[in-house]
Order: sequence, then C-alpha cells, then structure tokens
Amino acid sequence: MNTVTMPLRIRSLATSAARRLLPSEPLSHEAHRAIYGDLSYLDGRQIVVAAELSGLCGQGGAAFPAHRKMTAVREAARRSGRRAVVVANGSEGEPASAKDKALLWHAPHLVLDGMALAAAAVGADRAFLAVESGHGLGRYLTAMSRQRPAPAVPVTIIEVPQRFLSGQESALVSFLDGGPALPRYQARPVFERGVGGGPTLVQNVETLAHLALIARHGPGWYRSGAATSLFTVREADSAPTVVEAMPGTPLGVLTGAGAATGQALLVGGYHGTWLPLTATALEAASPATLGVPLGAGLLAVLPHDRCGLVETASVLRYLALESAGQCGPCLNGLPRMAAAFNELAHPTPRSDLRRLRDDLSRWAGLITGRGACRHPDGSARLARSALIAFAAEVDDHARGRCRAPGRPPMLPTGPASPAAPIEQGV
Ligand code: SF4
Repeated sequence: MNTVTMPLRIRSLATSAARRLLPSEPLSHEAHRAIYGDLSYLDGRQIVVAAELSGLCGQGGAAFPAHRKMTAVREAARRSGRRAVVVANGSEGEPASAKDKALLWHAPHLVLDGMALAAAAVGADRAFLAVESGHGLGRYLTAMSRQRPAPAVPVTIIEVPQRFLSGQESALVSFLDGGPALPRYQARPVFERGVGGGPTLVQNVETLAHLALIARHGPGWYRSGAATSLFTVREADSAPTVVEAMPGTPLGVLTGAGAATGQALLVGGYHGTWLPLTATALEAASPATLGVPLGAGLLAVLPHDRCGLVETASVLRYLALESAGQCGPCLNGLPRMAAAFNELAHPTPRSDLRRLRDDLSRWAGLITGRGACRHPDGSARLARSALIAFAAEVDDHARGRCRAPGRPPMLPTGPASPAAPIEQGV
C-alpha cells in the first residue's frame, strides 16, 4: 500500500466519459484503454500539425501555442545535432492550486500518452514527469507507468520541492541538472539549451492530456469547443474543488453556490488578478470572457467576511519570500511592496495613504519586465489589481475601519493545498 495525499473534491461538468480529462475514478492502464481507446501513433510532424490545427495552448500559465514550442525544440535539435528532452510539468507550485495533481491522480495514462506524443513530436530520447513532492505522487505514478508496455522513450518521474517557483522552466532544468529548483538566468532559452544542455520541451501536464485527446478525436474536435478545461475553485477555508468545465460555462456554475455571497474573485493564481464579483458577472461571464489571464486556472472566491487587503498582503509576502532573490526586482522591489501592502492591510488612522498608494503603483511599474523571469511581473499584477478591486477597503483601513477585523487570511501560503489523505493500493 502506498499513501497518496490528494484533493478528493472533483466536479466534472463534461458529458462524455471518453473525452473527459478527469474520470470519476483513478484509471489503471487497462481501464484507461477501455474508456479512451488506444492511441494511434502519428509521426512527429503530424503531431505538430495536429497541435497547430487544434489551436492548443499551454495550460500551465503562459498560454503559449503548443505547436510553436514543439517546432522551436525540433529546430534547435536539428541545428545542434543534439537529441531533445521532454519535461512534463506537473509541479504546480501554487499552494492554492490542485488541478494538475488531480489530473495526475485520476488520469495518469492520459498524461503519459501525451508525453509519448510530445517526445515523438520533438524527436526526444528522454522524458521526465515532474511532480510536487509530499503527496506520494512520485511512487504512485512510477507504479502506473509500469503498467504500460515499454515506451519508445523512457520516462523518469521526479519529485520537485514544494516551492512557488519550482515549476518555472529554468527552475525545472536547474533541478534536473542537479541544482536548486529555482529560476536561473539563461543566456539561451530552455528550448535551445535545457536539461543536460539539450533542447528541451517543457509542457504542462494538462496540455499533454489535451494532446492525447486531440490525437484520438482530431484537431477539429478540439477546435470546435468540445474540449474541457480544469479549474481549481476555492471558497473561504474549505478544501479546493477541481472542476472540469466546457468553454463558456458561466462563472456562477463553475464556482458553485458559495460564489453568490462572495465579494471578489482571484482569477489565475498568485500571479493573477482580483476582480469584483457581481451577480451579472456570475450569470453572464465565463473565465474566457473576463479579459484577464487565466494562469494556472485558479478561481478563488473571497467571501464578504474576509479582507482582500489582508489576503493580498499575505500572498505578496509569500511571493517575496519565494523569489530566488538574485535579480533587483525580487531583491529590492518585492520586499518593499510586501511591506507597504502589509501597512495597508492594518486598519489604522493614517495621513500617508496617498504616498503609500503612489509608492506601490510606482514600484509595480518599476519591477515589471526587469527580472530574469516573470515572477516580479506576476506579483506586480496581483498588487495593482488589489489596489483597484479593494480601493474602498484601502480608504476604510486608512480611517481605522475593516470589514473583517482579525480574520486570518484564507489563501494558503504554505507548501501544500489542504487535502485529505487516502490509502490507495498501487
Ligand atoms: S526575477 Fe526574481 S524569481 Fe525570477 S530569476 Fe530573478 S530573482 Fe529569481
């Protein structure tokens, strides 16, 4: 028996079992084949073309077109004469997010199928599946991978530390090369020079699972809007629910009944955007029509009895502590912003409110685009959106008033998402 700690709350709004990303039960390889059917192998170029025709984009945060990444790695491998490497990214450093862990737990073979396709697409001779440590996923997935016939490209499953930036591309490469799981300055991009110096494709696990469905049902099926996406929905202090939804699903349906009593929504994750939550938005908007990056697919509902400034101050402090601290924006800018937001979060009569606001806006502008990775940009986005979404609370705090005095932050800033341990034989 192997102890696996996983979020158990799954809600699927998809209709056909054969086209779901999240089956209701974790599937063995035999059950996976019975439900999804065998994978018809295409050649590398056909896979890239299928990805392009489908419009598949990365589901890990950056939403970069999958076929362009594959093409870049293929070309780099051809130019350098080196074999490519594939890294499936299931490391999900966001403490509030759980959708990639749920996918790996429920549909490991869909991800492994996608890895085989990606390896063929870029001509890789090695593949790694990177998962977050501390959940038993490494052992579970190793056992699952042994159920499969010997793959054309060997897959190694690795556990990466539970840190916010562990899943950043250069951090993964650093860790696989024996270094710390932190972003590093790279003179050449990972697609040219990644693991062991070889051209490396880093692709999110949900993207790879989509690729496995596209290989079965065709790019037209994906493009038609029949494919689902995964979201992590959080409300107050409860454990997260991972929701599988069709495009266009209204926010109110996606987030559930609790959202009706929410005041704001954090969209995308800790590098995301706070938006006011209105009845109109819940009924008429879907994630895609919100007009903000969906990032890692987090939708966190802030109830009326919580303070958005306290939440933001807590997350900014966490983001400042999680940086690699090697570039100016992270070394100087993020700690200053976190400290200033901490002041805003404390309701106390003050006369320097305008200065604090101006400083925060100025620092957010100064750090954006100045780091070796996008960590400062995402942190600045969060801070800016909070100043807008919680402008009334900022004024209230400066008068010494708060709508949720003394309530601790609900958004987790520890390593792991709240989850229930379960025993599972593998
Ligand atoms: S911007 Fe920050 S997190 Fe990114 S590499 Fe530089 S110090 Fe590290």
